[in-house]
Amino acid sequence: MNLHEYQSKEILAKYGVAIQNGYVANTVEEAVEAANKLAAERDAKAWVVKAQIHAGGRGKGGGVKFSPNMEKLKENATNILGMQLITPQTSAEGKKVHSILVAEDVYYPGETETKEFYVSILLDRAQGKNTIVYSTEGGMDIEQVAEETPHLIHNEIVDPCVGLQAFQARKIAFNLGLEGNAFKEFTKFIASLYNAYVGIDASLFEINPVLKTSDNKIIAVDAKVSLDDNSLFRHKDLAALRDTREEDATDVEAGEAGLNFVKLDGDVACMVNGAGLAMATMDIIKLSGGNPANFLDVGGTADAERVQKAFGIILQDPNVKAILINIFGGIVRCDRVAQGIVDAYKAMGSLPVPLIVRLQGTNAVEAKKLIDESGLPVHSAITLEEAANKVKEVLGN
Ligand code: GDP
Ligand code: MN
Repeated sequence: MNLHEYQSKEILAKYGVAIQNGYVANTVEEAVEAANKLAAERDAKAWVVKAQIHAGGRGKGGGVKFSPNMEKLKENATNILGMQLITPQTSAEGKKVHSILVAEDVYYPGETETKEFYVSILLDRAQGKNTIVYSTEGGMDIEQVAEETPHLIHNEIVDPCVGLQAFQARKIAFNLGLEGNAFKEFTKFIASLYNAYVGIDASLFEINPVLKTSDNKIIAVDAKVSLDDNSLFRHKDLAALRDTREEDATDVEAGEAGLNFVKLDGDVACMVNGAGLAMATMDIIKLSGGNPANFLDVGGTADAERVQKAFGIILQDPNVKAILINIFGGIVRCDRVAQGIVDAYKAMGSLPVPLIVRLQGTNAVEAKKLIDESGLPVHSAITLEEAANKVKEVLGN
């Protein structure tokens, strides 16, 4: 699950990570109020208006605007709120901006130059350890740096059993070319950041840029946080931060129905119980000359209600030309699943595409009979080969 920048920064601040301060706003009035608060509380003399969407590259798409005075701030807030923001990380339609973060300007001039660094923390699954990825070349062109000058991007592996060691924090600060107060601030920054990463069970932190201000402070100017979905049960407060407006509507619906669903680009939809069988079914579809339109694991109980819900989700995809149901009746008997399919079909009246059902396991023969005698235009099969041939037949391959 991904968080918005403003949510991520609030969490980081709780862990003692220095951040660029700001307030979230949903209207222009709230934006002005936020700017006034930052002026009063933090002596902010200029602000930056930042679109809150679940995608990076906002600056490049015109979603981050410097606002040197109140007039500009109002203008930027008006333009960004409600805009359809297209960035290198969104689809061609972009994403609608529902809220903005009004933050204090931290690029003010001073004794030294400001400097943007890149820092991320993620799990290296191959090593079973956390990795801090960092670079002196932070800012809006990090992808280009990775492409053209990968040697400027460094890794520091952290063993989760011992945590980030002080020598590692110093090594990173040294490699970033920091000295004096900025060096000390950075070691504190990275230690708090690592604690936050572990504390909230994150799967990814990306702080780009980490800024060295002109007065040698180290602060997070941007923050992208992904949480490990498997840990949300023990972080109810974080789970509540979910913004479903940012997610694919079909995915949200499937999630609410407890269906494990991943949309793909093909034309044959599948409905299967168990992830392993779902993978095998996708292979069969491929071998029959089709392409899977989705991965859908209905789980243990394939009753009429769940099957109907799954049909509804599958059929939202206009590319679907056929549906293959492949269920193994182990704990759940095939005839009960067959009844569920027949009931769901009848409840829906009709299906716009051919349906092939393969049921194998306990009471498979009874199940096939039940489907064949239902009077519905359903192709039934018991073996995988039969099912594959039926798919071929309906696709005209
Ligand atoms: P992203 O484009 O989605 O990664 O959004 P960021 O939060 O990283 O902001 C993009 C860029 O906006 C940063 O790299 C900065 O150059 C600029 N920016 C962010 N905050 C400020 C600010 O307080 N003042 C000024 N002048 N520029 C800022
Ligand atoms: Mn950024």
